[in-house]
Amino acid sequence: HYCKQNGRHNFLFYTPDMNQYHDYRITIEGDLREAISRNELHLNYQPKVNVKTGFISGMEALVRWNHPEKGFISPGEFIPLAEETGLITQVDEWVLKEACRQNQEWIEDGYAPERVAVNVSANEIQRTDFADKVRRILDETGLAPQFLEIEVTENSVMQNTDQCIRTMQDLKALGVSLSIDDFGTGYSSLSYLRKFPIHYLKIDQAFIKGVLHDPSDSEIVKVMIQLAEAFKLEVIAEGVENEEVLHFLIENGCDYYQGYYFSKPLPPEEMEKSLVKKQSY
Ligand code: C2E
Ligand code: CA
Ligand code: CA
Ligand code: CA
Repeated sequence: HYCKQNGRHNFLFYTPDMNQYHDYRITIEGDLREAISRNELHLNYQPKVNVKTGFISGMEALVRWNHPEKGFISPGEFIPLAEETGLITQVDEWVLKEACRQNQEWIEDGYAPERVAVNVSANEIQRTDFADKVRRILDETGLAPQFLEIEVTENSVMQNTDQCIRTMQDLKALGVSLSIDDFGTGYSSLSYLRKFPIHYLKIDQAFIKGVLHDPSDSEIVKVMIQLAEAFKLEVIAEGVENEEVLHFLIENGCDYYQGYYFSKPLPPEEMEKSLVKKQSY
């Protein structure tokens, strides 16, 4: 079984002095509580690109926190904290609303519609009312369900799996797309993968980074692409940083990619420039 640590559960501010660390966490937790109302959270958008055509085929919304004193705090740091404290419910709801609102605005402004993908934490996908919440947000923002995608990590759907499958089925019935994120780092078995009503597998960047120099990574990625094909899923590679890796993906039949090679996550004004204006008549 292959398992790579992608680092999202390792605290970046770890210090041997645990008291100091504890204080830091308490401060951040209190600040995060107010961050939403104080308008400190923002979304960046990273394009998803069709490997064969090179055209954009959607985007992923990634949350950013600009703290008034501490400056930029990365989601790799505050999302795990939000998950532990339960604040993640508010964070994920804000992200979902904002991504849907922004995407609907782009559509109304005459851009060719693209799907926006939103990351959802384990706690949220396991809630019995999650699909209802998504339906309500789609209603409120006016976004059609086919322009929303939900990304859930492989590990999060392996806890409380039956409930997750029900939620995923409800989301699918709504018309929302589903991706399994960080694929390859978790503990799902093939028999479960078959039961998940998903559309995309996202290969974790830990494997993508190694395809050129680590033979086991390149084999794993090839197998994951074949697996996706066998299960009639589309497959997306994350963390593509150069042309050589893109060539590897082209040769091996990967469908989509994301990564710095095409674009970093962009503020909305920048993302907008990458969208195509529909012809006006
Ligand atoms: P993720 O969902 O696996 O997102 C991919 C991460 O890789 C993002 O980091 C993205 O900026 C980064 N990335 C994209 N392309 C490249 C590349 O070519 N090279 C490298 N080195 N990195 C690349 P980010 O934005 O810091 O987010 C980290 C994690 O935080 C995400 O991992 C996700 O698990 C979580 N996260 C981000 N936004 C949200 C959110 O709105 N809600 C929840 N629940 N989690 C979020
Ligand atoms: Ca506008
Ligand atoms: Ca993701
Ligand atoms: Ca990842």
